[in-house]
Amino acid sequence: MIDADRLKILTNGAKYDVSCSSSGSGRRNAGGLGNAAPAGICHSFTPDGRCISLLKILLSNDCIYHCRYCVNRADSDIPRASATAEEICELTIAFYKRNYIEGLFLSSAVHVSPDRTMEEMVRAVKLLRTVYRFHGYIHLKGIPHADPALVREGAKYADRMSYNIELPSEKSLKLLAPQKTKQSLLLPMRELTAFRREGAERKKGHILPAGQTTQLIVGASPEPDGKILHLAQSLYDRVGLKRVYYSGYVPVVHDGLLPEKPAGALREHRLYQADWLLRFYGFTADELLSESENLAAEYDPKCAWALKNMHLFPVEINRCPAELLLRVPGIGMRGAKRILEARRYAVLRYEDLLRMRIVMKRAKHFITCDGKFFGAEKPARIRRSLVLQGAAENAEQLSLFSSPETALTSLTGEL
Ligand code: SF4
Repeated sequence: MIDADRLKILTNGAKYDVSCSSSGSGRRNAGGLGNAAPAGICHSFTPDGRCISLLKILLSNDCIYHCRYCVNRADSDIPRASATAEEICELTIAFYKRNYIEGLFLSSAVHVSPDRTMEEMVRAVKLLRTVYRFHGYIHLKGIPHADPALVREGAKYADRMSYNIELPSEKSLKLLAPQKTKQSLLLPMRELTAFRREGAERKKGHILPAGQTTQLIVGASPEPDGKILHLAQSLYDRVGLKRVYYSGYVPVVHDGLLPEKPAGALREHRLYQADWLLRFYGFTADELLSESENLAAEYDPKCAWALKNMHLFPVEINRCPAELLLRVPGIGMRGAKRILEARRYAVLRYEDLLRMRIVMKRAKHFITCDGKFFGAEKPARIRRSLVLQGAAENAEQLSLFSSPETALTSLTGEL
């Protein structure tokens, strides 16, 4: 069994990975232990939006690579530890039986070689499924440069796999993570996409039911938000990723090539909001900003888009097509659904929208209700009002969610 000292080192080393939330996995228990629920098992969140109910652990923190931003890099003077596949399994089962966790998030530094590390990680998840009969959720991290056969083998047992894309450009990778290349990260992602497709075509059960995710460090290198969002869009469209996680850079090691200051929670928050618009609201990265631009800090990306496209507004709430309704600031997915349903039976007025909990402080500048307009006439006044609201909401969000509504928006990114 892993002793307390090693456990501390291995779990501490895993805490920087934010891509561990789970969803979409619905395997039934066939006489073993645990369940992977369709709605996701990470139902417990820390105030900054990170989930806490998985055992999040490294197989090893003893790395042969030199990623400059990483505390585990080969030349770091830190305590090192590794575990065996059997030790990871015993720990997972012991924690599960004590009700401490509902699943496993297994990652690792590159220990000895990419193949050696990946082999041991795959052995751990295979043992958990076949010997320990564990049916709980498993998220397996991929090791760049490992043999594609190992990548496929891991995918047979995990619910989700992820390769961290790390930085938004090849140039930054070369500078800050010299052993990693764009290809070493993209090829296994494509391998997994192909494997999932083959599995679906041959009806061989659901391979990686919770899909693939990735994590990007924001602010360690100079790329603007536009470059990051365009990359995210191509990962969704071309590689079929389920989710891109944005991890604001935090200086944990001193290095002349890295910024001295953290990227800040607001930048990370705006990227999550924009990402939400890409995945659920039908926006493209191009519509939101060019590759060389940054997202506005003063207000959310949907407001920023609407202000750039004032010629489309105001729209009449009782007739506006669903796609455009979703683009009105202050009307979220649930709000749009309520409006579409209700307007089939009655003409909606301002008070009706308030009752539907539409955020009228924002929406009123972009809509008419039964022909009546309640917003500000001049773009400068609209802008000022949105900036003031944005400032109030950001102050709340950054002070750890003082209201349930702000907490929900911050966790989901819904706008
Ligand atoms: S591969 Fe890079 S990021 Fe991963 S543990 Fe090693 S040094 Fe850190």
